Amino acid sequence: MYNSIKSRLKNELKEIKESGRFKDERKIISKQNSLITTEKLDVINFCANNYLGLASNQEIIDAAKTTMDQYGFGLASVRFICGTQNIHKELENTISSFLETEDTILYAAAFDANGGLFEPLFDAQDAIISDSLNHASLIDGIRLCKAQRYRYLNNDMDDLENKLKESQHSRNRVIVTDGVFSMDGTIAKLDIICDLAEKYDALVFVDDCHSTGFIGKQGKGTQEELNVMGRVDVITGTLGKALGGGSGGFTSGKKEIIEILRQKSRPYLFSNTLAPAIVGASIKAINLISNDNSLILKIQNNTKYFRNKIQKIGFDIKGDIHPIVPVMIYDDKIASEMADYMYDNGVYVVGFSYPVVPKGLARIRVQISSSHTKDQMDKAIGLFEKAGKKFKII
Ligand SMILES: *Cc1c(COP(=O)(O)O)cnc(C)c1O
Repeated sequence: MYNSIKSRLKNELKEIKESGRFKDERKIISKQNSLITTEKLDVINFCANNYLGLASNQEIIDAAKTTMDQYGFGLASVRFICGTQNIHKELENTISSFLETEDTILYAAAFDANGGLFEPLFDAQDAIISDSLNHASLIDGIRLCKAQRYRYLNNDMDDLENKLKESQHSRNRVIVTDGVFSMDGTIAKLDIICDLAEKYDALVFVDDCHSTGFIGKQGKGTQEELNVMGRVDVITGTLGKALGGGSGGFTSGKKEIIEILRQKSRPYLFSNTLAPAIVGASIKAINLISNDNSLILKIQNNTKYFRNKIQKIGFDIKGDIHPIVPVMIYDDKIASEMADYMYDNGVYVVGFSYPVVPKGLARIRVQISSSHTKDQMDKAIGLFEKAGKKFKII
């Protein structure tokens, strides 16, 4: 009978609402872009993962259309039955050459890539050593596997070394980290992580969803930024952020690991293949970035510009070079009220508070894109200044 759970769920929903954690969804009625139209008003968008502005790029939209005309809407099959077209292999190879890895396997989402990554490779004889701020999909993927679990404090290399010492008895060990911590805009210390991995004979797995395509000189991610190309064993990434913003994910890395995943990874084996339009558009996105680094330069310059200006008007920010710019408000209630105020005045930003970030460290997270114009950034900074004074933050 539904009635008994119905009242429980209603109560739970009420509690979520009362605690201020209810997630509302605003309806956009335009393409994703730096300026979007919502049902109420036009807003400059500073909260998308559309880092390179490719979500509304005409060449990418055209590539999706022509691929759909040639290869159809969908395959209605998993990869190993009849869901592999030549373009799926082409995209896997394109990603491998872009990241300079040995092989790549596609998934319906990066969430699935992480969900299906650990169980096929590790069991109770092995140890997984994971950063405490890792993404939910890594945490879930690790839960699905029987390996011993160790957790080190965020980006704390001494604590990581301790955990490597504690886990010496394990057969294989793997250090798992986000390349970029998305609430802080900070970058994992991959150079030190790779040194420690060598010293203690551990593997390194990096989830680079918030860097593939735009971090590093050529957009090859945190591995390029920190000069550890070739020293990371596995990189997971998404096609749903900088690389067009459609959907889809991948795991890229050592040949045998990818081969085992094709045989054993459950989200790969038991879920539909990626739709052709996404595949064709994603190949186009990577080719665009590989042949022309102007969008990468643009986002790096935009990020510098915004980070400088927002500090000059008196806000504290976190992070260093990443286009995720957490503007610290500290107080939970003010963070959400101020974000709403900014939205109503044409700048779309989102406040994050406990439990998403630690107590007393509420923030408004800004995400810069190469599609932002200087004028749009200036408008946002002007409004931040006005709102910061109104809410007595600066
Ligand atoms: C966005 C994100 C994911 C999920 O990517 P999807 O392709 O949308 O499933 C996984 N890990 C990290 C670190 C992310 O930022």
